[in-house]
Amino acid sequence: MQIINPATEEIITTLEEDTQQSLAHKLEILQQAQPEWAKKGLAERIAVLSRFNELLATHIENLALVLTNEVGKPLQQSRNEINGARNRITWMLEHADKYLSDEVMIDEPGLKEVIKYEPLGVVCNISAWNYPYLVGVNVFIPALLSGNAVMYKPSEYATLTGLEIEKLLKEAGVSNGAFQTALGGKTVGNALLDLPFQGYFFTGSYRTGQYIYEKVAPKMVPCQLELGGKDPLYIADDVLDVKGTAAATADGAFYNNGQSCCAVERIYVHEKNYHEYVAAFVAEVKSWKQGLPTDEVYLGALTRKAQIAVLENQVKDALNKGAKILTGGGVQDKKGYYFNPTVLTDVDHSMLVMKEESFGPIIGIMKVKNDEEALTLMQDTEYGLTASVYTAQQERAESILSQINSGSGYWNCCDRVSAALPWSGRKHSGIGATLSHQGLRAFTKPKGYHLRG
Ligand code: NAD
Repeated sequence: MQIINPATEEIITTLEEDTQQSLAHKLEILQQAQPEWAKKGLAERIAVLSRFNELLATHIENLALVLTNEVGKPLQQSRNEINGARNRITWMLEHADKYLSDEVMIDEPGLKEVIKYEPLGVVCNISAWNYPYLVGVNVFIPALLSGNAVMYKPSEYATLTGLEIEKLLKEAGVSNGAFQTALGGKTVGNALLDLPFQGYFFTGSYRTGQYIYEKVAPKMVPCQLELGGKDPLYIADDVLDVKGTAAATADGAFYNNGQSCCAVERIYVHEKNYHEYVAAFVAEVKSWKQGLPTDEVYLGALTRKAQIAVLENQVKDALNKGAKILTGGGVQDKKGYYFNPTVLTDVDHSMLVMKEESFGPIIGIMKVKNDEEALTLMQDTEYGLTASVYTAQQERAESILSQINSGSGYWNCCDRVSAALPWSGRKHSGIGATLSHQGLRAFTKPKGYHLRG
């Protein structure tokens, strides 16, 4: 298994993938150790994971460099990601006691009714590469906190980061048997589906997610999926600071080269603001530096070479159907997977760029006449991760957002995740939720105790 730096196309290192035998052995280690890990009190597990959180801070520079070298994101964005993950962990540690401890529901003479949150057992986490720290901690932190043992498969594009995470978890005091890492790509992921885990937690594409859901179904164990999106954003006619909004929403579309599950993927602008918005948006995009991610740039390289063909196809399809390119449109003629940030107008919903997840630095902007037209277009998708409305009126935004079948709704913000709120997708964007109290309890089985005496 070769680990390639997408910014230079150099081979960083070569690693051994796991085999069916080595995975079975790792599972045995987890199965043997899980009861012991679950027996430790919640307070002890909180202390251990809090040490992990400190170690992330201590080693942030090295961790950020490892991440940047294997996924191609700018170094500062790698640091931001690790700090963001640390904030999420802090929230989880501070709220674990409240949401994972026994809950007394009824306490009266002769009868007590109590809910206990038992761990699922040994769970499997198949993860993505775009934010390996953020999507990783959404799963393995609450899973470990609630007493599970975890088989963690980092994406094949974020393997070195996965190994760093394992090293620091163990250094913090997570027992060897409570956390094991599976190394490899699709074949290894597939092999994990054949093993008897007591829960599957997946982050990745709709296509893989749907396959996993079908494959896991006969096991009758929880299977959560955090999948892709085609997240819409609407700029209404009453937005006051159109230029500022254009700059902020361009960041929502292009941060991390657009490789965010909740990146803005399509934009609808009220005709009153359309020209001013588009001009300011394009000016913002043209002001960004793109280059080696270890330099001070806003855009680095794409992580996967294969995505270039997807983006080129979306551009070609849009141009064939009458779209205009205002900036960008293709790759840079040099080593590394660099795609110029691309803005398309005169787009419509017959084009792939407005319907299929781009997962790259490309956006379509469309003019609309009113809220009704914007709403109809925003609803026209198989996905349901997030949706965003910019307007001076909260009621107007909430009215639109309430009619969109998505897991998150944003008023005057976008591309945002909070540890306190459930992170969940609808339709092709997923099943179940991480983060918030729901995400802490997702790794548990509630048991009702009826206690008479
Ligand atoms: P992917 O589906 O290609 O791969 C995800 C993981 O699944 C990897 O670890 C991969 O090795 C593994 N895998 C691939 N085929 C498998 C199979 N047949 N059986 C078992 N495992 C298999 O996705 P990706 O390219 O890593 O991630 C990008 C996608 O993830 C985008 O669609 C993005 O929107 C989505 N995503 C969603 C969220 C969210 O929170 N909703 C967060 C991050 C990324």
